[in-house]
Amino acid sequence: MIPFNKPYMTGKELWNIAQAHVNGHLAGDGPFTNKCHDWLEQTIGSDKALLTHSCTAALEIAANLLDLEPNDEVIMPSYTFVSTANAFVSQGATPVFVDIRPDTLNIDETKIERAITEKTRAIVPVHYSGVGCDMDTIMSIANRHGLIVIEDAAQGVMASYKDKPLGGIGQLGTLSFHETKNIIAGEGGALLINDPTFIERAKIIREKGTNRDAYFRGVVDKYTWVDTGSSYLPGEIIAAFLYAQIQEAEEITSRRIGMWNTYHHEFASLESRGLCRRHFIPDYCKHNAHMYYLLLNSIEDRDRLICTLKEMGIQAVFHYIPLHSSPAGKKFARTSGNMSFTDDLSQRLVRLPLWVGLEDKIVDIADTVKNIIKETTNTKHSTPTMHGLPHTT
Ligand SMILES: *Cc1c(COP(=O)(O)O)cnc(C)c1O
Repeated sequence: MIPFNKPYMTGKELWNIAQAHVNGHLAGDGPFTNKCHDWLEQTIGSDKALLTHSCTAALEIAANLLDLEPNDEVIMPSYTFVSTANAFVSQGATPVFVDIRPDTLNIDETKIERAITEKTRAIVPVHYSGVGCDMDTIMSIANRHGLIVIEDAAQGVMASYKDKPLGGIGQLGTLSFHETKNIIAGEGGALLINDPTFIERAKIIREKGTNRDAYFRGVVDKYTWVDTGSSYLPGEIIAAFLYAQIQEAEEITSRRIGMWNTYHHEFASLESRGLCRRHFIPDYCKHNAHMYYLLLNSIEDRDRLICTLKEMGIQAVFHYIPLHSSPAGKKFARTSGNMSFTDDLSQRLVRLPLWVGLEDKIVDIADTVKNIIKETTNTKHSTPTMHGLPHTT
């Protein structure tokens, strides 16, 4: 079976972990964490980067930083991972979902302004598949209405919008180093702070609501409880692992781009014959090949492709169940306008295996996919059930 994802290891991770062991500093914010922070700040241009246990944790810190009040609203797409919304719901706010653009599957920036009310506090653009949202438009809407922008750049490490790295454009940004992402630490993430007024409080929230950081810098003489927060910092073993990955970030990205380009080339004729639509990258974006997806013509075609690939030993997967149609989404969030592209495209999308080490198999996988689509699309078949289909985040 060719799995959808296989975590890539550089081979240097264990060496770094041994170094952390020798250093004898195993809690957070030791030498490896500092190296990761430096790299993130330099690469993304943030005023401050803070490692966290996950992108979810980074989103929670961001939500806490907003000082939300009950019924405050946060605008975001419904086509995203649970944590984008949950972090704000946990702080008492209401996510307001806006439909996506049919080309990039990112939030439709032309529909944001009509979702703004007196209660709106923030916009959370999600850079789906490492392809940037239209950030110029989103930032100018936010500035006009006094809103904070928090980029969910979980999938966006090493990608950019008009040469600005994703996660470095809004006042805050978040990254994920989950093992399904491009650069990994098993579980891991980072908060990117691009507005220095948030730095002090972000450090406090990340350190259990204490002023530990200021105390160790000698700025205050007492180490005490000063605000709300939690334990959001990863230990040095995680940071040591991550630093090995970071040092190969360029190479990992270019190997992924190579495979992405092969898929894209292979599927060009299917697209021109109207049998599917390929992953789309606007000119102003440099993507990071986080995933390769196709949009089939119907949910039946998509499900049949996934089932047939599974029988042939290839694991392909669909993606998000839109949050507005989930039980918690119905309870805690609301929609602004209709969700027609979200509902339609989420049912027709399939992601193909793409991981460092799969280079030799990409053409074979593409051939298999092409044969299945050519043989079965637009012909009558019974609809397979969704039961048992793979679904990973
Ligand atoms: C993966 C992902 C997350 C969650 O990341 P974790 O590090 O697993 O918490 C959040 N948002 C998006 C868009 C993601 O793809």
